[in-house]
Amino acid sequence: MEAMKYFYELFSMLPRQGPGDNESTQKAFGLMVGIPPNPYILDIGCGVGMQTIELARISNGTIIALDNHQPFLDKLMEKAKKAGVAEKIIPKNQSMLEMDFENNTFDIIWSEGALYFMGFANGLMKCNQLLKKRGYLAVTEIVYLLPNPPIPLQQFFEKEYPDIGDIQSKTDLINIANLNLISNFTLPKSSWLENFYSPMEEAIKILKKKYNSNEAALQVFEDSQKEINLYKKYSDYFGYEFFIMQKNTE
Ligand code: SAH
Repeated sequence: MEAMKYFYELFSMLPRQGPGDNESTQKAFGLMVGIPPNPYILDIGCGVGMQTIELARISNGTIIALDNHQPFLDKLMEKAKKAGVAEKIIPKNQSMLEMDFENNTFDIIWSEGALYFMGFANGLMKCNQLLKKRGYLAVTEIVYLLPNPPIPLQQFFEKEYPDIGDIQSKTDLINIANLNLISNFTLPKSSWLENFYSPMEEAIKILKKKYNSNEAALQVFEDSQKEINLYKKYSDYFGYEFFIMQKNTE
């Protein structure tokens, strides 16, 4: 568990905790037609909240920002105050596995790079229950973008995320969860590098110095660097897909 401490320290230094960018958040939001003027939004696994703050700016709604790591929520609210949108965001420290909201509560549910902690299929079904009639769900999920991914990549995902599949396999799960797929698009490579891996490389440099004789810490940073290198080498083969879905109204 000690490793988790260093992992969180590294991730708390980043502007976001997974790939993404404000333009893609805007694009996904823009695909939601007919939402109420002040939508009630749930952001699952919000991290330090780059997308939460963007949603607060563009939606004119109220957002429940849910995460189970309090320091991320604290940082999110600090940033929200600076951005002038703190009154639109309600932080909630709760596990996404134990959400206690009533069914049919939200106009929009958002989850960038986090729903997989519930299992993608299970997460979709839970979100469907929590959405109001005609409510929207926007989720990013890691996918294979090309067939026959190289063996080292397959081995990495077998260990880290065996549920990875291609876009079609995720679309099938969306259908099974009785959600309508409105649109989907692949995040650009810049959303991995600019907001996520470049800041991570900078942070790794700083933390390697800080923990220069701490084996457990150095191992965490080494593993993170390996993941970055893997992306740089194989980024044609995998990426994040944004899925915009709507609760089935029939
Ligand atoms: N959406 C953010 C963060 C993605 S990283 C972004 O795109 O930048 C995944 C987030 O899920 C982390 O902030 C982590 O703390 C959170 N998380 C992991 N397991 C969780 C759980 N069981 N319940 C709630 N949040 C969880």
